[in-house]
Formats: sequence, C-alpha cells, structure tokens
Amino acid sequence: MIKQRFVVVAVLLATFFYSCSEDDTNLVEVPEEVPIVPPEEIIRIPVVIHVINPPSFPFVISDQKIHSQIDVLNQDFRKKNPDHVKTPDEFKDLVADVGIEFYIATKDPNGQPTTGITRTESDISGFSGDDITGELPIEEYKLFFTNKGGKDIWPSNKYLNIYIADLSDRWGRLGLAGYAHFPDKDPRVNAVVIDPRVFGTLQPLESEYTLGRTATHEIGHWLNLKHIYGRDGSCDEGDEVDDTPDQKSQNLGKPVYPKSSCGGNEMFMNFMDRVDDDTMYMFTKGQKDRMRALFNEGGARRELYLNTKEK
Ligand SMILES: [Zn+2]
Repeated sequence: MIKQRFVVVAVLLATFFYSCSEDDTNLVEVPEEVPIVPPEEIIRIPVVIHVINPPSFPFVISDQKIHSQIDVLNQDFRKKNPDHVKTPDEFKDLVADVGIEFYIATKDPNGQPTTGITRTESDISGFSGDDITGELPIEEYKLFFTNKGGKDIWPSNKYLNIYIADLSDRWGRLGLAGYAHFPDKDPRVNAVVIDPRVFGTLQPLESEYTLGRTATHEIGHWLNLKHIYGRDGSCDEGDEVDDTPDQKSQNLGKPVYPKSSCGGNEMFMNFMDRVDDDTMYMFTKGQKDRMRALFNEGGARRELYLNTKEK
C-alpha cells in the first residue's frame, strides 16, 4: 500500500516537473537556424519555369497559365483546395496542410530582378532530361544544358526548377504527363518536367488533366514522396509513410470509393496515386512529415531551406 502511494506521488511530481520544464523551453530564445523545422512554419520555395518550345509546333504557355499552376500548388500544399472536403470520413483526420508555398522567383541566380520564366526555342524532347538505362553521364541529360539544346538549370539548392517540355509518344500524343527527380539526384539535373498539355488550369489541356495536379504529384516526388501503391502488385513495398494504407497497385481514371486491397480501403484520392486530376485531393500528415524532414539538419534539401530565408 505504502509503496503504491509512493509511486503515485512520484508520478505526480514527475508530471509537475515535466510540465515546468516544458514551459521553460518556451522562454528559451530559438536560434535563427533551427536544426528541426517546426511543423507550423510555412516554407516558401522560389520557382523558375523553363519553357522549352518546339519551333515546329509551338504551344502557348502564357504568364497567366504559369500563375494558374502556382495557384494550384499553393492550394494543394496548404489544404486550401476546396475539393479536399470530398475525402472519405475514415481518412479525413489524416489530411495535411503541408505548410509549403511556392512563388515565381523574383531574383535570378546573380541576384538580378527576373520574371522567373525562361523561354527557349528548341526541338529537344522532354524525355532527354531522364535516363531509363541508368548509365547516361549527367552531361547527356540534354534538357538541362543550354549547349545541348536545352536550358541550363538554375541552382537547385536555391530554386525549384520546373521544365515545361514536350513529352509526346511516337504518334505525337501525350506520352507522359510529367516526371521528377528525387532529392538525392545530381543537383545539375534536379528538377521537375511537365508536358505543356497538363500544365496549369487554362486551356488547351488534356481532358483528364485540367486541374494542374500533375505538378502537385511530381513536386511530391521532388519532395521525396513515393507512390502510395506497392511495386509490382505487392502489398509490402510501400511508400515508407505510416498513415497511407497499403495498396496493391496504381489506380487510373476515376475510381469510386470504397475500393479495397491489402485488407483495407484504398486512399486513391491521395495526390501520390495516379488518378485523374479531379479525383485526387489530399496529402496525409505522414507525407507532410516525410517531405518536411528534407529541410531539417542533415536533410537533402536543407540548403534550399536555408536559402529560402535569405533576404
Ligand atoms: Zn509519380
């Protein structure tokens, strides 16, 4: 009996001291360069848009169209997209305000004023910024080099570089909507590539891609997110995020909830599945944590984060 009472007192004392010390930490001045970025801090990333336009069939990417895409990103990464309310009840508590915003760069790499948009006439394909063999030297990712027919990347530790470039298949139709390089990719090619037919919300656009969600998805990859579905139809190979349910394979088009695999309902409305633009509308809190971990001390986009704070 005495022993039990002692334990209760000890727990009460411990609680008291714990809450005191918690209060004390609030009084400590937070250093400028915090090793862990607080979850409520809004991170603002400058973006440069490189439009690579084929002279033979130029597409129209107006400044307005570019701004329409930035608006989409600032909704989707801030849980301000009106359609997030469509999230099914079982996933509603998981929907995250990722706390990341994007803006068109106002200073170029030399610190001079800029529109944040470059325009290049070239027949080079968007596919030349990627390498499916895994053996290509970085200098041969031609899309990212002016002297190879592309456009030089701006420092990827200071900007998110988005290339708008043709990703047609061999019949001239949309072959791929976009792709992105993960944070650990060589900085000389560390960028996102989007086809003009799926970029922004102003016409002309492909019918399944009218809401600018290709860029949301690809920037998710650029911020280290994997697809929410397993590879090769497996439930095991997940996305390393705890709060996205296991899912056997990708969804395309407009699936209808509920749809299940791997013992639960699929979260196909997640930005990291591959459904139509109007069928995806949420990131989870676990995905938010994974993305933002990049900006902590030792994270792969730590330098970018510190550079966003430069005046
Ligand atoms: Zn993807």
